[in-house]
Order: sequence, then structure tokens, then C-alpha cells
Amino acid sequence: GGKIVVALAGNPNAGKTSLFNALTGARQHVGNYPGITVEKKSGQAQREGQLFEIVDLPGTYSLSAYSLEEVVARNFIIQDRPDVVVAVVDASNLERNLYLAVQIMELGAPLVVALNMMDLAESRGLKIDAQRLTDLLGAPVAPLVARTGKGLDGLLRAVAQVAAQGAPWRPLEISYGPDVDEAIVRMSACIAAHGAGAGQGLSPRWLAVKLLERDAEVQKLVGQTPGLAQRLEAIREGVARHIQATLDDDVEGVIADYRYGFIGSIYRQCVTEPRVQRLEMS
Ligand code: GDP
Ligand code: MG
Repeated sequence: GGKIVVALAGNPNAGKTSLFNALTGARQHVGNYPGITVEKKSGQAQREGQLFEIVDLPGTYSLSAYSLEEVVARNFIIQDRPDVVVAVVDASNLERNLYLAVQIMELGAPLVVALNMMDLAESRGLKIDAQRLTDLLGAPVAPLVARTGKGLDGLLRAVAQVAAQGAPWRPLEISYGPDVDEAIVRMSACIAAHGAGAGQGLSPRWLAVKLLERDAEVQKLVGQTPGLAQRLEAIREGVARHIQATLDDDVEGVIADYRYGFIGSIYRQCVTEPRVQRLEMS
């Protein structure tokens, strides 16, 4: 087949640049994203005759729209539709790093998890069941030490397999609890009826979740359809009032809690932390 386009996403310091360099060697190109001064590095890798175009996205903790880096990373995934998104995660800090990977899955992009810093995780006595993590996430997980290049072959094999499936985007649906879920259903129906986001290939459910999170970019997008933003905002206000009254929390807080809950349950099933050494008190 043709060239496989791969975007590297990840928290700052997860090892994206190390992985990018290990994959591309000297075949690198540095430019900017169109119209802004955020650096865009891309380069090529090759394995068994298959060519890969690798793009190093800005480091982000989330796929919300709070920072320019997040908007740039998210827009690249949405607009350029890379064949595969690789979430580079720090295995020694897995639970926190999975937050971004799960958000990529909620968007629906085809994902491979690069479980980087395996040397650090091992030296800290963490036991990570990569196969179980693969099964629970429904995305391949490739253990890696980007600094030495260990595991690169397995990563590219997984990337090529996901690209070969050429599966349509299939957004992961997390439950955010009965109140928020009900609002999502009503908002999604409204969004679908107006066809908002369809041109960008965005699912109505994802747009609804983002509106509940008060995402400025998605607010702009639905604002293009006359009357739609007001109807959606009325639903959001209703559930926000209810959640404030019953849980003394805001909608964004509830969504983050459920997302962390989902990640925490996966983490506990895949990772065995070392038993804390206790001093004998005799
Ligand atoms: P980025 O911010 O995601 O681009 O991360 P970098 O590639 O700059 O890496 C951050 C730091 O982690 C650097 O000091 C790297 O040398 C180090 N690093 C990257 N990958 C590994 C790895 O697999 N194991 C270890 N021990 N260190 C790594
Ligand atoms: Mg970097």
C-alpha cells in the first residue's frame, strides 16, 4: 500500500521527541502549522518496505481546547485524519498518561498505545500486563524504550496492522452517569438532526460531550447552525442546575470524575504496583 501517516500524541516528557528521532533518524523536516508559530516536525520511517510519515504533535495532557497546543494537536487529528494516532505514554506514570489516550479514543481516531519508559517502570517494580491493557482498551499496546530504540519494530508492526484494517472512526463511549448521559442523548439527537459536525466527520455524541465541557472550539462549530447553540445550551443548563443541586458539583467535574474512574478501573486491572517496603518497628 501507500505511505502510512502516523501522528505522535502524548503528555510533555512522555518521550515523543525521543521516539520521533528514533523512528526517523535524519529524515526530518521542521516547519510550522499553518498560520501559527507552533513548530511542526515530520519525518519518515521505513519497515519491511512500508513507508511511514511521522508527525510529532505538540505535547498535551488533554484533548480539550484550553491551550493552543491542545487545539493544534486535536485539529491535526480531526482535519488531517492521520491513518493512526500513536499515544506515547509514560509507563512509569501510566494512570495519568492514559487520560489523553482515552480522549483520543473518545474522538474515535485509530489508536496504538506506545508504552514508553518501560525501563523506568521496571526499575520502579511496576508490573504492567500489556496484553490485558490491549484487551481492555481495544487498541494495541506496544512496550517501548524510546531512548534506546527497544520495541520500535513491534510498535511499527502494530501501527501497520491498525492502518491495514482501515477501520472507520469508532468513538469510545464512556458512561458519565445517568444525568449527564441523558443530556448527551438529547443533545446528540439535536446535533444529528441538524447535521452539525458531519462535514468534519465528528460524531454528535463527541460534540455533545465537548459542549457539556464548555469547549470553546466546539461552541464555535455548532454556532454556525442558526438556533442550534441555544437549544443545546438550554439542555446543558438544565443538567448543570440539577447536578449543582444534587451533587454540589459542575458538569465538567462529573465528566472528569467518570473519565478518571474508567481509567482507574483499567489501570487497576493491568498494573501491579510494588508493595511498599515498610521499616521494621521492633
Ligand atoms: P517529549 O517531551 O514527549 O518530546 O519527551 P522527550 O523525548 O524529550 O523525552 C523526555 C525525557 O525522557 C528525555 O530526557 C529523554 O531522554 C527521556 N526518555 C525518553 N524516552 C525514554 C525511555 O524510554 N526511557 C527513559 N529512561 N527515558 C526516556
Ligand atoms: Mg518533544
